[in-house]
Amino acid sequence: MIVLKFGGTSVGSIERIRHVADLIRRSAAKEGPVCVVVSAMAGETDRLVSLYKHLSSDTQTLEYDLLVASGEQASISLLSAALGSIGTKAQPLLGFQAGFVTNDARGRAKIKSIQTDRILELSSAGIIPIVAGFQGADESGQITTLGRGGSDTSAVALAAALKARRCDIYTDVSGVYTADPRICKKARKIEKMSFEEMMELASLGAKVLHPRSVEIAAKYQIPVRVVNTFEESEGTTVGPFEDLLESPVVTALTTDHNLALITLKNVRKSEELLDRLFGKLSEENVIVDIIVHSAIREDGSFDLSFSTPKEDVSLVERSLQSLALEASQIDTSLSKVSLVGSGMRSHSGVAARVFKTLARGQIPIVCTTTSEIKISCVVPQIHAEKALQSLHDEFCIVRE
Ligand code: ADP
Ligand code: ASP
Ligand code: MG
Repeated sequence: MIVLKFGGTSVGSIERIRHVADLIRRSAAKEGPVCVVVSAMAGETDRLVSLYKHLSSDTQTLEYDLLVASGEQASISLLSAALGSIGTKAQPLLGFQAGFVTNDARGRAKIKSIQTDRILELSSAGIIPIVAGFQGADESGQITTLGRGGSDTSAVALAAALKARRCDIYTDVSGVYTADPRICKKARKIEKMSFEEMMELASLGAKVLHPRSVEIAAKYQIPVRVVNTFEESEGTTVGPFEDLLESPVVTALTTDHNLALITLKNVRKSEELLDRLFGKLSEENVIVDIIVHSAIREDGSFDLSFSTPKEDVSLVERSLQSLALEASQIDTSLSKVSLVGSGMRSHSGVAARVFKTLARGQIPIVCTTTSEIKISCVVPQIHAEKALQSLHDEFCIVRE
């Protein structure tokens, strides 16, 4: 079995749905049994979310999930009808009908299990299952959604449950590139990438794959191929390639604009404060990324900054208030530019080259974090694109 997933642009019009139906028919003829996962038509989920936001800002509700899940209900039905019209037997299945059981975290549910009996029955009867991505149901039968971009996760999770040979993610670019090809014109397609690199890249903001889909792929060792729906090409395979002998220092770069940096100045009692503050933030499910702690001054005071996604700022403010603390500054005009590459393990001086490149472009750095295979710099958003282009020129341009 192979799982094929089609993103929103791939099914964005009736003409495109016809094209995808033909592609599925040819794939099934060539590769054997396939199971298909589909997103909502391009722009549809955004439209539903914006309708909802006229009425409520709370997206962790039953109504939100039921509403936004409806985009996929339409696309699976249309795709199934298109397959029927070319004589290929298919059946649309909502997430819960396809066996997706999730927890009850509204708007960001996690998949607990997938009961594959119905999919397997259809498949053995020669009927192609067309499954709604991005959704499932909790144990009480309520429809849930997995968070924006989550249909990649539906597809890879299904591939794992079916012990599929591969999961093909069909999208509107020809693979994973050295940077977002829509922003960086010199970006090149990467042929093979390790799960580990792709996991970093996805969680640092490259939206070509949902971060959780890569986590599942790595855990169950499912090769994921990112391919273009509208152009025949090899695409990128994300797989168990940790042992690439001569990896480049930097495999790919990405930017993330969804960032708020919260700063508390002149606070005291370091250990106690860190314990209380981050304990409270974790209780509130706030995602904290970068933490910068200044040196402690002679009088015992220090400064603390940490970053969160912009939508978590009100939760942070509430948490600070409950601890009788106040932010000195909340900066939402920043972006994070990140470089990822397993080659960093065996190369020194990468940070120095990053700083030199940014200094040459007179791009100020607000803060920096590193791990074994990545370096991230927070810079003012107005400089983010220039930072990405110049770092891409420095690290990813193949010089003759
Ligand atoms: P889909 O609707 O098919 O799920 P998405 O819009 O979620 O598609 O993801 C594909 C988009 O990801 C591309 O159009 C591209 O702009 C963006 N992207 C960001 N970083 C990269 C990258 N490194 N390589 C390829 N695409 C990227
Ligand atoms: N339709 C959903 C969204 O737009 C899921 C997805 O496309 O992956 O977020
Ligand atoms: Mg997507």
